[in-house]
Amino acid sequence: MNIILLGPPGAGKGTQAKMLEDTRGMKQLSTGDMLRAEIAAQTELGLKVKSLMDAGSLVSDDIVIEMISHRIEQPDCAKGFILDGFPRTVAQAEALDKMLAVKNKKLGAVIQLAVDEGALLARIEKRASESAVVRADDNADALKKRLAVYNEQTAPIIPYYEGKKMLKKVDGMAAMNIVSEQIDAILG
Ligand code: AMP
Repeated sequence: MNIILLGPPGAGKGTQAKMLEDTRGMKQLSTGDMLRAEIAAQTELGLKVKSLMDAGSLVSDDIVIEMISHRIEQPDCAKGFILDGFPRTVAQAEALDKMLAVKNKKLGAVIQLAVDEGALLARIEKRASESAVVRADDNADALKKRLAVYNEQTAPIIPYYEGKKMLKKVDGMAAMNIVSEQIDAILG
């Protein structure tokens, strides 16, 4: 099954995606990870997106749409893929619908990890303190910007999927294993 994990930065999308990779053999497709790999490899694309990402702004729709369109065709996505951090705008959601139709693929569910924004800053600071490589955008200023960007540009995709009767909501503030049980119940 192909799914979208939706939620603001720090909601736990990456953690849950990794658990689904282990338990179901689905493939996590994180546009953020793909872009960070481009930066690390100092590609032309990496150089182009670095300052936007560091500041917590979105990169252009075309870039991520192209990446995902190519990526979902790869053999490791055969058992299903988990979109983590994509789509992030209504334009990306519309482009995803079109590419899935062309490729004869379907979305099984859009799962929203609902969280209390006040608790997110603490979570991201914890992530930064525990991780060996600290993300350039895991700091208070960039996080505030990323949350604002989420509310302005990404939250509108919630009604988009509600309208299609595809949206499922889970409590992202619950413990990691409880969130994963809720997701399992949705996926069946
Ligand atoms: P993430 O790891 O998902 O938090 O993404 C980190 C950063 O990568 C974001 O703040 C954006 O700058 C960029 N990014 C990741 N995914 C997208 C996307 N779907 N659309 C636009 N920018 C993205």
